[in-house]
Amino acid sequence: MKKFVTAINCMDGRVQEPVINYMKKKYNIDYIDMITEPGPDKILAEGENKFKIESIKERVDISVIKHGSKLIAMVSHDDCAGNPVDKETHITQTKESIKTISTWNHNVKIIGLWIDENWDVYELE
Ligand SMILES: [Zn+2]
Repeated sequence: MKKFVTAINCMDGRVQEPVINYMKKKYNIDYIDMITEPGPDKILAEGENKFKIESIKERVDISVIKHGSKLIAMVSHDDCAGNPVDKETHITQTKESIKTISTWNHNVKIIGLWIDENWDVYELE
């Protein structure tokens, strides 16, 4: 059985490979279902754009239910055009996003990832 995980990531081309490489190395998985939006931490933390949130949730559902993902990574990054805020705000919004995702009642682990200006990936506590 091939192992899938899920990432809610920015659409930014610079942060795709760092997330894939980190998750493959750290969690020993085969594939990562990449759900992308510009600045998804803003979307999920603010909770205002119900249409976009539902769209993200639908894709998470497919990854978890059809692919059997047991892990969701919520990603934010430096120099985000879709959500141009400072690092501290990104971290706060990432944690808020994790709370939102946890209300979707999937029996999965949810982690937060921060990607810095060197495109290094850090897992949040
Ligand atoms: Zn971005």
